[in-house]
Order: sequence, then structure tokens, then C-alpha cells
Amino acid sequence: MAYVINEDCVACGTCISECPVEAISEGDIYKIDPEVCTECGTCADVCPTGAISLGK
Ligand code: SF4
Repeated sequence: MAYVINEDCVACGTCISECPVEAISEGDIYKIDPEVCTECGTCADVCPTGAISLGK
């Protein structure tokens, strides 16, 4: 399991510098690498649009 970024992402870049394991990559909508994410939840806490949640 890993956190995922949904279509509410506005590519603001807030989360990318907060991830301690650098699992987030840029794009029209940012992406989290599920192989790298440790489910710490830091990105979800800082996302201004609430676009990041724990995937199923
Ligand atoms: Fe990075 Fe933590 Fe977000 Fe996973 S949950 S992408 S490890 S900040």
C-alpha cells in the first residue's frame, strides 16, 4: 500500500520537498512511487487541496 495523488492535484509542488524518501515526482498531476512510499502521511498533511490519501 502507498499514498496516492488524485485529480484534485494542482501541481503546486508543496508535497514534493516534504517527502522524506523522495517518492514523489512532478507532472501535470504529481505521482507517488508505491515502491518507495513508506506511508508516513507527511505529504497528505501538507497538500492544500487534499489530493493525497492512502490508497487501497
Ligand atoms: Fe513520501 Fe510519506 Fe507521502 Fe509516502 S506518505 S509519498 S513516504 S511523504
